[in-house]
Amino acid sequence: MSCQEVCELLDAYLDKELDVVTSSRFERHLTECAVCRAKWDQYRQMHDSIKSRIQYFQAPEEFQQRLRAHLRPPERPQSRITRREWVPQWRPWAMAASIVAVLLFAALLFQMARRPSRSEVVAEEVVSSHIRSLLANHLSDVVSSDQHTVKPWFSGKLDFAPVVKDLASQGFPLAGGRLDYLNNRPVAALVYKRRQHTINLFQWPSPASDSGRRTLTIRGYNVAHWTHAHMAYWAVSDVNAGDLGQFVHDLQQ
Ligand SMILES: [Zn+2]
Repeated sequence: MSCQEVCELLDAYLDKELDVVTSSRFERHLTECAVCRAKWDQYRQMHDSIKSRIQYFQAPEEFQQRLRAHLRPPERPQSRITRREWVPQWRPWAMAASIVAVLLFAALLFQMARRPSRSEVVAEEVVSSHIRSLLANHLSDVVSSDQHTVKPWFSGKLDFAPVVKDLASQGFPLAGGRLDYLNNRPVAALVYKRRQHTINLFQWPSPASDSGRRTLTIRGYNVAHWTHAHMAYWAVSDVNAGDLGQFVHDLQQ
């Protein structure tokens, strides 16, 4: 099995959807390939951390009581059953069957809802990558505050040209850039500063149409995401939400 195949099967393996043969080929590759093993560990940890933050909801007591009342057979007078009375005896069964169908459908919806969406997974990856860049002392491959140095550095390393803007006069000086790997592809990471804080701005091509800025907070980090001119942008930092909003605004000007 190739590294590419392993990459594509991460989800299916995690959900135990692979057949025995593919599973064992997948596992064999992991024992032999340190790169995929590291990717798998990171993916699994991310999945666990998302799952542990999912909220579970219990049906309200009133709804449970109504459900129990429906399932209880109606009290019938002790008299001989006429043909007319015999027919409605089906009703509790029909009722129970439809309730089971509704519960199955609700369970299916619940299952779909608790599975993290693609964009939640990417948001987690973005934050992990930001943290890793600060921890591993691997913030920049090209250290420069000059956009005309940083932008050409990427050429030949990526299949797209990232948008590199100098925002020094707005209080967000460019500090450099590096290659990173997110959303199963190589991406451009630009590093900006805000006082003592670091802002990582990730970019890669996206087929999605333009979208406004969406913001979220993950593990204390503020994250902003938008799409423009078929490029996906993700900005992440420990600066406050106001500063990050200002950064995105200045960048979009
Ligand atoms: Zn591999």
